[in-house]
Amino acid sequence: MIKDIVIYPDKRLKKISAEVSEFNQELHSLLDDMYDTMLSKKGVGLAAIQIGIAQRVLIINLPEDDSDDVIIKKEETLEIINPIFTYKDGLCKHQEGCLSVPGFYEDIERAEHIIMEYQDRHGNKQSIENKDFLAIALQHEMDHLDGKVFVEKLSILKRKKFEKEWKKKHK
Ligand SMILES: [Zn+2]
Repeated sequence: MIKDIVIYPDKRLKKISAEVSEFNQELHSLLDDMYDTMLSKKGVGLAAIQIGIAQRVLIINLPEDDSDDVIIKKEETLEIINPIFTYKDGLCKHQEGCLSVPGFYEDIERAEHIIMEYQDRHGNKQSIENKDFLAIALQHEMDHLDGKVFVEKLSILKRKKFEKEWKKKHK
């Protein structure tokens, strides 16, 4: 089911999400709703808090190329529960956007190389190592689980400009 996206600066985006302990039907429905919602907005990643659920759950589905007719396959969606970074190294800068901050894009500095451990929808332990755009997307979504939105990583000047324009646009 497609859910409403929580839009910045909604206070729910500041919540620290709780660990998932039961890998049951409720979790599976949440993952399915997140997938439907992400797909409907043509997003590449979504954290549960972005549909108002404060649990450590995120999904990512990176299209293989930039053309408009890429088909997103559900079985290729990464479903990540209770993630932790066990390794982070290097620095890189990429343009990021967020379904909770629609229409705004900015370069953000992140670690270049990551290793993440997490659980899948059945509670099985998994890990991912990445040095590419997936590493960036994982760091962006992980921030949501800790109550952070990417605009908080902007320089003071850029942040002020953003807040002013955002307020004007969302009056
Ligand atoms: Zn986001």
